[in-house]
Amino acid sequence: MSLNVVKNATCTFCGCVCDDIELHADDERIVETKRACSLGESWFKNHTAERLYPDALIDGKPATVDEAVEAAADYLYQANMPLVYGLSNVTCEAQREAVSLAETIGGVIDSHTSL
Ligand code: SF4
Repeated sequence: MSLNVVKNATCTFCGCVCDDIELHADDERIVETKRACSLGESWFKNHTAERLYPDALIDGKPATVDEAVEAAADYLYQANMPLVYGLSNVTCEAQREAVSLAETIGGVIDSHTSL
C-alpha cells in the first residue's frame, strides 16, 4: 500500500499553529505525523473527514443549522451571565467573532486553558 505524504502541513489544535508537520496517510486516515507533538499527533490521527454527526443538534436531536442558531440565540438572550467558552482548535477569525458575540450579549469569555 502506498502512502500519501503531505509536507509542511499546519496543525491548528492548540494555537501554536506549527506549520512544519509531515503527514503520511493511507486511503482512509493519517497514520504518521512527523514533528507533531503528542497533542498534534492525537488530533491528526483521530479526526477524520467522515460525517459522523448531523449539522446541528438541539437537545440531542438532529436540527438544521438555522434552527440551532435560533435556539442558541434564545438561550443566550435568556442567560444572566452568558459564557463564551472553548475556542481551541478554531481560527483567529472565529475567535474574533466569539469576542464580538461576548461583547454583544454582555457575557464573558474564557478559553479551555483556564482548566
Ligand atoms: S498541538 Fe502540538 S503540533 Fe499542534 S500546533 Fe500545538 S504544539 Fe504544534
